[in-house]
Amino acid sequence: MSEPADRVQRRCAICGKPQDSRFRPFCSKRCADVDLGRWLKGNYAIPGREIDEGDQPNPPHDNDDPD
Ligand SMILES: [Zn+2]
Repeated sequence: MSEPADRVQRRCAICGKPQDSRFRPFCSKRCADVDLGRWLKGNYAIPGREIDEGDQPNPPHDNDDPD
């Protein structure tokens, strides 16, 4: 348990197999595509969330008003 981090084989972020230098941080084109798909899905959700935030007419904070 004294190996430097540089010598430790890094693992694919998707499936855990050893990374391929051509596809780092993944082991293959397939896993790179999987990650890209996840990233795109997450990216699509951002505009929807921003619209949802600005679309609220009455913020919950307003309920605290004693008036
Ligand atoms: Zn993989």
